[in-house]
Amino acid sequence: YDLIGVGFGPTHIALAVAFTEEQPGRRALFLDSRDVFAWHPALLLPASRMQISFLKDLATFRNPQSTFSFVSYLHSFGVDRLAAFSNLGSWTPSRTEWAAYLAWAAKRLDHIVQWSSSVVSVQPAQSNGVEHSLIKVTIRDALNEKIRVCFTRNLSLAPGATPFIPALFREVLPVIPELAHTCAYLSTLQRLKMDHATFDGRVAVVGGGQSSAEVFHDLVSRFPRAKVDMFYRASALVPADDSPFVNARAFDPARTDEFFNLNDDERASRLREFRRANYACVAPELIESMYKLLYLQRLQPGEPSHRIMPNTEVASIERGPDGAGVRLTVHSTLSTGREPETNDYSAVFLGTGYHRPPSSLSFMSGLNSQFPALEQ
Ligand SMILES: Cc1cc2nc3c(=O)[nH]c(=O)nc-3n(C[C@H](O)[C@H](O)[C@H](O)COP(=O)(O)OP(=O)(O)OC[C@H]3O[C@@H](n4cnc5c(N)ncnc54)[C@H](O)[C@@H]3O)c2cc1C
Repeated sequence: YDLIGVGFGPTHIALAVAFTEEQPGRRALFLDSRDVFAWHPALLLPASRMQISFLKDLATFRNPQSTFSFVSYLHSFGVDRLAAFSNLGSWTPSRTEWAAYLAWAAKRLDHIVQWSSSVVSVQPAQSNGVEHSLIKVTIRDALNEKIRVCFTRNLSLAPGATPFIPALFREVLPVIPELAHTCAYLSTLQRLKMDHATFDGRVAVVGGGQSSAEVFHDLVSRFPRAKVDMFYRASALVPADDSPFVNARAFDPARTDEFFNLNDDERASRLREFRRANYACVAPELIESMYKLLYLQRLQPGEPSHRIMPNTEVASIERGPDGAGVRLTVHSTLSTGREPETNDYSAVFLGTGYHRPPSSLSFMSGLNSQFPALEQ
């Protein structure tokens, strides 16, 4: 192959589109360990929207005439659908619609993708004991457990991020079925058979970023009789900064080359500076809607059903009484804060983010000698 790509999420769908449009006649192959394309299926909530403009789709900035643009996707259903979308007057499609767009593009590229195929090692290719410029990629097919080997001139990596589970929860996660990361939110509700009309238990959400906020908001809307607590360490939910100067400096295409050429310290400082555009922050409209919800609760008599508790962290977690549910003890992170409290929950969701541990690139260890940074 001229190009092998590890992973077939949005990053490599965009690369595959560019490759097929700009390098016709060259051979590419993309490998993904999943059996089918799906973009964050457990977080496709009715109210969730994209946080970026639809113009930042798979192709438009590189090639506005691409047939893989979001506008082309809408038009593939007929001009009525494109017109209807334009009538919304919105730059940000729903995440459900975006997931369908990505799936449509992935399907059109199916001829250069192998699903259920995990890359297990990458090594310099050798013939007669001499290394040459090709790269040897070893792949395990999950359907028949067969191993096969491909050779490529170029290799691209986009294995994505992995849900981050803080140490406190790591051991109990596999043994408490009512505890899940937000990346498994909808599938967990389904598994626990929580009926939206009758469920009147307590649910907790841990974390103060976008996923936690979306899950909190969804729980409150989905289960009108439930009580929902949200705990997070920071002092307030902070808005994601998508103001124009920040967007331009952080995400405009011209910034990619600039970022690439920065030295290590400059890169780290740039990432720190723009964390507020993407990490541990919440879309401003969602913050407003959550604040209103808490305010409206004050107008009702009695204890509030829902609580959003800043400066609060989970001190301990165990199985609930009678071997069901989850018992959480939370305490304040402030010396002046409230006393610790212990409550039993029917379900607990960890909105503790995503990370890119070195283990997600362990298949690259065969190239450590050429790329020492891989060993870090
Ligand atoms: C809920 C949520 C909402 C988001 N919303 C937005 C948004 O609105 N706007 C935005 O810009 N970003 C958003 N993001 C962030 C980002 O765009 C997405 O996470 C996106 O999916 C990243 O694409 P990717 O292709 O890099 O990785 P992924 O989509 O994670 O795909 C990586 C793929 O690599 C495969 N893989 C990994 N290792 C191997 C291996 N060894 N062999 C074979 N295959 C392998 C995996 O199976 C996976 O399919 C969101 C993220 C989340 C979690």
